[in-house]
Amino acid sequence: MKVAVIGGGYAGLAAAVELAHAGIPVTVYESAKTLGGRARRVEYRGEILDNGQHLLLGAYRELLRLMRLVGAPDAALLCTPLKLHVPGQFRLAAPRLPAPLHLIVALLTAQGLTNGERLAAARFMLALKLRRFRLDKDISVTELLGLYGQTPSLRRFLWEPLVCAALNTPPEIASAQVFLNVLRDSFDRRRTDSDMLIPRVDASTLFPESAARFIENRGGALHRATPVRRIAVSNGGFAVSTANQTRHFNHVICAVPPQRIAALTADLAELADARAMLDKFTYQPIYSLYLRYPEHVALPSPLLGLSGGHAQWVFDLGQLGRGKGLLCVVISAAGAHEKLARDDLAQQVHQELQQAFGKLPPPLWVEIIAEKRATFACTPGLQRPPQVTPLPGLLLAGDYTAGDYPATLEGAVRSGIAAAQAILGTS
Ligand SMILES: Cc1cc2nc3c(=O)[nH]c(=O)nc-3n(C[C@H](O)[C@H](O)[C@H](O)COP(=O)(O)OP(=O)(O)OC[C@H]3O[C@@H](n4cnc5c(N)ncnc54)[C@H](O)[C@@H]3O)c2cc1C
Repeated sequence: MKVAVIGGGYAGLAAAVELAHAGIPVTVYESAKTLGGRARRVEYRGEILDNGQHLLLGAYRELLRLMRLVGAPDAALLCTPLKLHVPGQFRLAAPRLPAPLHLIVALLTAQGLTNGERLAAARFMLALKLRRFRLDKDISVTELLGLYGQTPSLRRFLWEPLVCAALNTPPEIASAQVFLNVLRDSFDRRRTDSDMLIPRVDASTLFPESAARFIENRGGALHRATPVRRIAVSNGGFAVSTANQTRHFNHVICAVPPQRIAALTADLAELADARAMLDKFTYQPIYSLYLRYPEHVALPSPLLGLSGGHAQWVFDLGQLGRGKGLLCVVISAAGAHEKLARDDLAQQVHQELQQAFGKLPPPLWVEIIAEKRATFACTPGLQRPPQVTPLPGLLLAGDYTAGDYPATLEGAVRSGIAAAQAILGTS
């Protein structure tokens, strides 16, 4: 059996690893030189950055399983129990208790809320648990929070940062059902599911490069800097064409980003429904600001929340062994920051950091990486194409395909595994 995987992001590599593990050599085509797709290493002024700082959760079971399988670097992740801390404004920390008690106690002891707000948050979680985290009809997160009496402080410090981080979609248009899926998987099963896993290595080292070695060691091939131009049906299989050659495969897993599907599958009439669904997708940005301060600059912890300005989260990469004095500020989803000139945004974020942490020296440089189409907007009732298409042998994989998860590393990996399993089931 000959299988091609098009796209060397987390979804494509998960599919290829799963197939390689089952003894099927795979050919992976990746258009970029660096593996990882939307979670990849970027170099700037001699420093190793990412196109965006990523955060994993203990609930990312499939990604964590595949990382172990391919021998991803030991200690690649800093694991901290759930802690949300916005300096001077809000603090929530989960004690070592079984789930979901750990979250209920965390909510009831959170600082920066009134007693009534703590109870309202705990009641909200218990009510969701009683309904098994299922809604009869999908609505927006803002509507859901309104129905359950969540106050402005609860929204601002707790729910909205979680929605933006998990769904990368503003709460007013974010799917409440997908948010509940995330709450269910992160807070209602094992305590460790809500652990925050912060990479100590860049996003290409974290999984993609070990995955590539695993695939190659099992007879597979990886073609970097090799974009696929065309997929066509041929001789009961598929002809996959790059600039230099056309090769024949029995199965193809198309693991490119959603906005690339239309061009790549233009010759395949059977994918018309998938293309029609993707036509209705809209996208949301993620901005990552890397601020290079002198080496003595350090924050009180590796990850902190920020509120009231543009910045939402700040990672202290020095505490992750990735460059003392290097901070990464993340701004998820659409917002006023998109209208600012880069220098103004850099200046404002520097001011916001000073308001939260006291006087800082001016940064030596600031690099802003604006991923304008970081993820699809995860809106209520959004129809997402399934991995299995009407064209036998042609599978889709990617964070946008049908599933419980929003656009995340875990969603991407699960889709890749589902595509691989569809092939293994038919082999
Ligand atoms: C800035 C940013 C921050 C994020 N933060 C988080 C986070 O903290 N936690 C989290 O879980 N998720 C986060 N995400 C989401 C996560 O990165 C994505 O959901 C995931 O990486 C998507 O993987 P994928 O394999 O589905 O798609 P992609 O990563 O887009 O992979 C598709 C691959 O296909 C390749 N390709 C495209 N066209 C072709 C072609 N013609 N031929 C060959 N190859 C092709 C691309 O180069 C790419 O490598 C973030 C995303 C961004 C952008």
